[in-house]
Amino acid sequence: MTQSLRPVRSADGPEQHPLLYPGNSFNPPRPLVAALLRGLACRCPACGTGRLYRRFLTITPSCADCGEALHHARPDDAPAYFVMLVVGHVVVSLAMSLEFGFSPPIWITLAFSVTTACALTLALLPPAKGLVIALQWSFWMHGFDPHEQDHSTTIVQNQTISGDQPWAA
Ligand SMILES: [Zn+2]
Repeated sequence: MTQSLRPVRSADGPEQHPLLYPGNSFNPPRPLVAALLRGLACRCPACGTGRLYRRFLTITPSCADCGEALHHARPDDAPAYFVMLVVGHVVVSLAMSLEFGFSPPIWITLAFSVTTACALTLALLPPAKGLVIALQWSFWMHGFDPHEQDHSTTIVQNQTISGDQPWAA
């Protein structure tokens, strides 16, 4: 059995390219590693030249260099979770090493821990957010997917509301 390379458009969804794009089959693959490195550097995931933020953590609406729309990005809480995971492990390890190695007064351990946690968090949040945005861009997630409107329209069209639904009572 041979499959056609022609795009398939069904009544249920947008055009798919099953053989050309084996990922989600709707869009061509994007370079993942290059995009992640650009995101880590707080640069546009598409070109790597334009700035990702117009202020500390405020995403620029579109890349000033290549025009890629970046306002679709929805990193939400993911960067904060990743940063907490890393900072927590680093700061607790350092504080315990300090405490068990040198036994300083408790205020020195507290001052060191709080200062290190704040500095690391502020330093790591922009690249962590850039990493998540680059991941979403690379996988055509959320608004980065030009077919997203088609997906949501299809879902709404397939829903049937009947008297059995609790919200229809
Ligand atoms: Zn760009």
